[in-house]
Amino acid sequence: MRIELKTPEQLKLMRRAGLVVAEGLAAMADAATPGMTTKELDGVGREVLARNNATSNFLNYGAEHGVGFSGVACISVNEELVHGVPGERVLRAGDVISIDFGAVVEGWHGDAARTFIIGDAAAEDATLVEATRGALWAGIEKVKAGSRVSHVSRAIDEFVRAQPRRYGTLREYTGHGIGSQMHMAPDVPNFHKRGPSPKLEVGMAIAIEPMLTLGLHQTSVCEDDWTVVSRDGSRGAHWEHSVAVTEHGVWVLTSPDGGEAELLARGVKFGPLGD
Ligand code: MG
Repeated sequence: MRIELKTPEQLKLMRRAGLVVAEGLAAMADAATPGMTTKELDGVGREVLARNNATSNFLNYGAEHGVGFSGVACISVNEELVHGVPGERVLRAGDVISIDFGAVVEGWHGDAARTFIIGDAAAEDATLVEATRGALWAGIEKVKAGSRVSHVSRAIDEFVRAQPRRYGTLREYTGHGIGSQMHMAPDVPNFHKRGPSPKLEVGMAIAIEPMLTLGLHQTSVCEDDWTVVSRDGSRGAHWEHSVAVTEHGVWVLTSPDGGEAELLARGVKFGPLGD
């Protein structure tokens, strides 16, 4: 499986898509209140796409193989871990809400996710959300030309294992290459596994997306053919960014600041491409 290499101009288009994704995630997180349905929240994402002249890479995804996805965002609440289909579920105070959202600008894709809690958070849930966010950045920290996908996977795995409490790491769902399509080679697992692993090169872009639960890692898919829930009913969190390898360092395409603040805090080379 060849890994797509992007030109600087193509990465700049991916950055435009990434900024739409960032705007949509922020708008949905701001709008989320108890009493709202997940379908209403999806509507906020649709407005952001429309006002940016962007299209959705989530809507109708998978239609050629079965049931196409019916939203522009995956909205997964509590024991729903990923791929939650927006619908009539009503948000309640204390819910753990994971939103995964994507956008396409001039044929180039962006994909990111974040988890937040509305109303008062249970301490354990807040820790889960922060551990998952930390795992994402532990992975991003390892992205550079010459390093391997397995270095990213291992860093996520080690970060999760170093936490004071145990978490389940989803194994059937992984990060992925991204560019002219949303899901491309290579897979980016969230756990360490032996064997050959592709080298990262300038022009590659990957989506890194740890998914953790407060319990075990086993999942099942609901009758809607999409929503993935934990088998033990434990709550989960999901954080994701699309990142690019540039000649200067790493560029977090779906972060409003390109990742600058988090990367500088970690002593990692921030590698945006200018105009
Ligand atoms: Mg993704």
